[in-house]
This record gives sequence, structure tokens and C-alpha cells, in this order.
Amino acid sequence: MVDNSHILPLNADVALDELAANAVAIGLPMNTTFRNTTLREVMLIKGPIGWAEFSPFPEYGPQESARWLSATIEAGWHGWPEPLRNAVPVNATVPAVPVDDVAAVLARFGPVPAVKVKVAEDDLATDIARVQRVHELLPDADIRIDANTGYTHEQAVEVITALPFLRYAEQPVPGIEPLARLRAALRAAGSSVLIAADEAVRKETDPLAVAQAEAADLIVVKVQPLGGVRRALSIVEQAGLDAVVSSALDSSVGIAAGVALAAALPHLEHACGLATAALFATEPATPALPTNGALTPGPAPVPDPEVLEQLKLPADRQRWWHKRLATAHGVLMQNA
Ligand SMILES: [Mg+2]
Repeated sequence: MVDNSHILPLNADVALDELAANAVAIGLPMNTTFRNTTLREVMLIKGPIGWAEFSPFPEYGPQESARWLSATIEAGWHGWPEPLRNAVPVNATVPAVPVDDVAAVLARFGPVPAVKVKVAEDDLATDIARVQRVHELLPDADIRIDANTGYTHEQAVEVITALPFLRYAEQPVPGIEPLARLRAALRAAGSSVLIAADEAVRKETDPLAVAQAEAADLIVVKVQPLGGVRRALSIVEQAGLDAVVSSALDSSVGIAAGVALAAALPHLEHACGLATAALFATEPATPALPTNGALTPGPAPVPDPEVLEQLKLPADRQRWWHKRLATAHGVLMQNA
């Protein structure tokens, strides 16, 4: 069992009426398919200090959604801690494209300090060739792979040992124990490639469990699933591991919270996965696109009322989101 007694409570100090009166559910058209959809639905809520996002993925239940709502309340009603740095380096992402397309994908990002390469959607030789191509094109970039739990132990060992220049491998295998076993096997084989836990970190006790099991060298953290910037900060501190802040496919309103977290971490070793705004074809607010490979901390961008209206979901989806908001709020109140 992990000791979670020091984790900050969820934010539960705003009435449902106030949240609901200022909330609108919108659909963001995407340039690519993600989680089997080309429309990312999010709820944006205007709080007294700024706009906030509530966007748990559709299949997430009330307990999980309550943590996302805690982050919404922080963003719109409390604000974030002061930044410790004014630039947050971000990584480019290369999807599981054919090797010949890698150069064109990278060209879209401009200069970046790091590249995440998606793997485990093809055969291993193709995965290895794609990553080698990135290394060839950007020899100075930090390269990490993300398998989204898609490898077996043996496959992960084969790919990672074939790519000794990798900085880290993100969730090559599912779960915490398999990660720990893989990390130990790589160390025994003399590999210096680090292991990152992503899918294994979904709730507040997970980072502590990852650290306790020595399953990873770093953890991927997202603001909404961990209940807010302050809460995520305290969780990272208690886990005692390096962290990479990533988006949960947030709109640029939610990205501002991710940048606030990355800017407030006492130690930021790796570029963050916050350059996801390029995945959306349209956004109501100024998209959080990197300049010189970095994003700048600041308040959430303010949506344009006209675009907000254009992107507004139909009445049945508004009802569905408002019901979800009410359910998540109910859970927050019970836990408070
Ligand atoms: Mg990942």
C-alpha cells in the first residue's frame, strides 16, 4: 500500500449552479484521428479569474471526472502557483508514419529540443527504422519513444537495446510490475535508456506506487487527471521522480494549466508533451503553439465568443455534458 495521506484535497468549493451557468460544451475538429474520433469534446467554463477546461474523455466515470473538475475549479477560481521559469520546452511528435514521411512531419514543428516517436503500431523493424530516421535528421534532439503499452517484455527489450541513443521509453509495456521488470532487465543488460510511466499514472496514488516499485525513472503527469496544478506538484514531489508534463488532448485553455505546472516544477529535466494544439483544426482561443520549441506560462487564452458559438455542441450533447458536470460535482462534494 502507498501512503497517500499527504496528497492535497480536491478543490470542491464552487457551487454547481455557478459552474453550470458559465459552462459550454464544444467540439474541436481534429486534423487526425485520435482515440477513434476526429472531434474532441470539451467543456469550457468561465470562472471569476479566467477560463477553465473540464474535459474527461467520454468513457471516464464519475470518480475520475471529479478529479478533472477539481483542476477546472483551480484554473477558474483559484489560479496557479507562480512560475519558476518563463519557457517550457516541448517535444514534437512523430506518429507511426512510414519512414519516408518522417522528414515532412518534423518540418511542420520547426526547431524542437525533443521528439516523441510513436511505436508499437507496426512490426519492430519499422519502429526501429522510424526512430533511427528521426535521429539521423535531428542528431542533437532528445528522442523518446512512446509505445502506449503496446509491446511485450521481449519486444520492448529488442527495440530499446537497438536504439541506445534514446533518452527514454514511455510505457513500453502495460502496468507497474511489468515496467519494473523491464527496467531491471534493461539495467542488467547495461542499457542507459530511461523508463517513463504514462498509462500507469492515472490517479494520485499511482506515481507513489511507481516510485515504490522502482518501475520508472520518470513519470508523465497531466493536470486534469491529478486534480489540478498544486495537487500534481505535491504528487510529483512525494514520488521523488522526474516528471514530464503532458496534455490530455486539452484545448489550449487546458494547455495553459499544463504549462503552469511545468513552469512551477522545481526540477524540469525533459521537454514536455504540451505541443498538441497543432492537432486541432479550429479552436475558440489562440492556440498554444510553441515558439522556438517552447511555450510560455501565462493565463489561459480567452475564447472568441463567435467561434465558441460556432463550435457549440448540439442540445443533446450539451445536456450530456451538463449531466456529467453535475455528477462529477456530486462526487467532489461527497469527498470534501
Ligand atoms: Mg504516452
